[in-house]
Amino acid sequence: MPYLSEDHEQFRRTVRDFAEKEIAPHAAQWDREHHFPVDVVQKMGALGLMGLTAPEEYGGAGEDGDFTSLCVAIEELGRVDQSIGITLEAGVGLGISPILSYGTEEQKQHWLPDLVSGRRLAAFGLTEPEVAGSDPTLMQSRARFEGDEIVVDAHKWFTSGANNAAFTTVFAETDPDAESRHRRFSAIIVPTDAEGYRLVRVVPTMGHVGGGHCEIRIDGARVPASNLLGKRGEGFLIAQKRLGPGRIFHCMRWLGQAQRAFDLMCERASTRYAHGSMLSEKGEIQRYVAESAAEIQGHRLMTLDAARRLDAGDDARVEIALIKFHGAEMLHNVIDRAIQVHGALGLTSDTPLERMYREARYGRVYDGPDEVHRMSVARRLLKDPSTAPWA
Ligand SMILES: Cc1cc2nc3c(=O)[nH]c(=O)nc-3n(C[C@H](O)[C@H](O)[C@H](O)COP(=O)(O)OP(=O)(O)OC[C@H]3O[C@@H](n4cnc5c(N)ncnc54)[C@H](O)[C@@H]3O)c2cc1C
Repeated sequence: MPYLSEDHEQFRRTVRDFAEKEIAPHAAQWDREHHFPVDVVQKMGALGLMGLTAPEEYGGAGEDGDFTSLCVAIEELGRVDQSIGITLEAGVGLGISPILSYGTEEQKQHWLPDLVSGRRLAAFGLTEPEVAGSDPTLMQSRARFEGDEIVVDAHKWFTSGANNAAFTTVFAETDPDAESRHRRFSAIIVPTDAEGYRLVRVVPTMGHVGGGHCEIRIDGARVPASNLLGKRGEGFLIAQKRLGPGRIFHCMRWLGQAQRAFDLMCERASTRYAHGSMLSEKGEIQRYVAESAAEIQGHRLMTLDAARRLDAGDDARVEIALIKFHGAEMLHNVIDRAIQVHGALGLTSDTPLERMYREARYGRVYDGPDEVHRMSVARRLLKDPSTAPWA
């Protein structure tokens, strides 16, 4: 992989080994049974994956870990199972990072050691069924401060992993009179066992992907005011801060999946005989292989470039919006071609491709639908062409 040091390559081999042994043999069954393997998540914690970007004092890797290692780990886990890949992403992106960046020392001491070890997980509640998730300024959940408590009333859905989480970071309007709509919302840590917090259902979806996508209702739950994450009115800032790295993580996971589909496609093309030659010798099939290779490699370079910029302190808005919709399309295309080369077999659950295809579809919606990212790229480039990645 370009840009990676020997240490990162070594680390990649360690994670691949773990993924091949602990995850790959069971992934299809977990998908069929909608099983969330808590024990494997704890093993990931023990291997140090959850704590790759956390300081040692909270059980993290400290100097031994970094953002690139985390990207590599997500790519490798994603290669064998999107669900486990996204669990690592969510563990860090939705649980550990917001607390590290915005939490008080008390919140860090209380939550981080368990999150880093994989003993506990967190969920992130922004999206609501009643209003468009792609415009979160429309959120209707409310919270009010009463003495040293916050009272939360919220209705959320697609709160991924809430059924296995110790808490949900709930985004709710606390300051309706703030001039900017973006300053009206706060982030509040609501333990999933708080009175008034109810898991309504795990929403049935076309793929499994990362435990359950939950609908939750919170009716008058009272939490200590010290559960406010960041400052009042900083909810948007906190949600936004997660999105940059979060989208890079998605793309790394998709790259892992796409490589797997690519390998399966090449393997099948080289072993299936029809009309006088192997499939691999036919121009049409070679086109599938070449186009897939180009899309994977192009996307990898775009993603690594975005990660490098983000790591250097740039907000990389254009680059991150670009990779989000480009990656979802790349993933769909590569899996689709791999299925085509497998013929009827590709549509069965005898290969992982049908599961991969179902799960790939989600990528065009979560963390902002394609249209919103394309709009964001086009608006920025039209307003200021010097923000183009190549400018
Ligand atoms: C698998 C999965 C996991 C998720 N996990 C979480 C989670 O953990 N926490 C959380 O809070 N949310 C989560 N979500 C929710 C996700 O982020 C939202 O679904 C997403 O932001 C879109 O919101 P929406 O579904 O309300 O669609 P809407 O906002 O209602 O949009 C519907 C459609 O309208 C179109 N559209 C919207 N805006 C525009 C525009 N400006 N221009 C053109 N067309 C437009 C698009 O086609 C879009 O798909 C998850 C979603 C999925 C699928």
